[in-house]
Amino acid sequence: MPIATRAFAAVAADQPLEPWSFDRRDPGPDDVAIEIKYCGVCHSDLHVAKNDLGGTRYPIVPGHEIAGVVTAVGSNVTRFKEGDRVGVGCMVDSCRTCAACQEGLEQYCEPGMTQTYGSADRKGAEVGQKITQGGYSDRITVDQNYVLSIPDSIPLDAAAPLLCAGITTYSPLKTWGVGPGSKVAVVGLGGLGHMAVKLAAAMGAEVTVLSTSDRKKADAERMGAKHFLINSDADAMKAAAEKFDLIINTVSATHEIASHLNLLARDGTMVMLGLTTEGMPVFAIPLLMRRRRVAGSLIGGIRETQEMLDFCAEHGIACDIEVIAPDRINEAYERMLKSDVRYRFVLDMAQL
Ligand code: NAP
Ligand code: ZN
Ligand code: ZN
Repeated sequence: MPIATRAFAAVAADQPLEPWSFDRRDPGPDDVAIEIKYCGVCHSDLHVAKNDLGGTRYPIVPGHEIAGVVTAVGSNVTRFKEGDRVGVGCMVDSCRTCAACQEGLEQYCEPGMTQTYGSADRKGAEVGQKITQGGYSDRITVDQNYVLSIPDSIPLDAAAPLLCAGITTYSPLKTWGVGPGSKVAVVGLGGLGHMAVKLAAAMGAEVTVLSTSDRKKADAERMGAKHFLINSDADAMKAAAEKFDLIINTVSATHEIASHLNLLARDGTMVMLGLTTEGMPVFAIPLLMRRRRVAGSLIGGIRETQEMLDFCAEHGIACDIEVIAPDRINEAYERMLKSDVRYRFVLDMAQL
């Protein structure tokens, strides 16, 4: 029996999201059926709903910061049972055999991961679904290997955004070896940025936030930042030259990055996380003079996502959220475009 699912979907790039319903598959032997309680609103959802990246197939149900409760499991499922608190992030499947999948880096799956929404749905045929549909909905069915356990100490609503904003910032902090004594700058204090600050501080780093205004200064300090700079302030940027081992750049729009490279110490790296589609000039000389790097990073693997959730539980970390009813999603997108989010909208599916 297909699972009747209610949702909010984008139907065209220039139209507001609207109520929509469709069927999810009944759990197969390896599947976990989940009642979605909360779903975070990531800026990537907005990029896809508005077709910023090109190629969006409508109607599309965004949402890849899913927290909920298991309602049924298939016969092969051993890791989860009815009633468990679980999460689903940005992917629901991958090839499982390529080198990346074998290393637990499913996000870099060579033939391509199956994203939670907008990917070809490998298992949707029985309910007539060609593409995957995400978490702005009340039900989802996911293979057990792509389901995460949410530790009991983290409330489900504040846990939801960890499934993307949390792992996307945790992964580069780990990859670039952040620990006690590291000097980390975070550019952009939005959903990703605020998690980067909390996680880096918990890892022992000295954290600086670079923001477009001083509106979020007190919040940044409360989250664990020691310093706060406005990135249009040329004097402050000059004073911060060569200070940082790692810059986590979470800005969601094309912006000037060349001046940020001078903030890196020798061998420092700036990791780009924002899904921007236009080029942003960088110059060779500031890079080569200090062996600096510009890098990128995409979410994180399943194993690392569980590690991040457990790290958050251990350190008492969760997201700063504003819980809203799903029918306020269009207003949430408008506020997100004005950088007016503190620091993640979370849809409460009970209000669907
Ligand atoms: P968000 O909550 O909207 O935060 C973005 C922040 O960027 C804003 O709060 C603002 O910070 C700053 N900003 C926005 N426009 C700017 C501009 N024109 N110039 C300078 N700064 C600007 O977005 P998010 O959900 O954190 O996502 C951030 C980006 O990461 C998005 O592009 C998203 O699609 C992408 N993303 C990537 C991955 C990945 O795997 N790499 C995963 C998730 C999301 P201030 O107010 O502090 O200036
Ligand atoms: Zn996301
Ligand atoms: Zn693979």
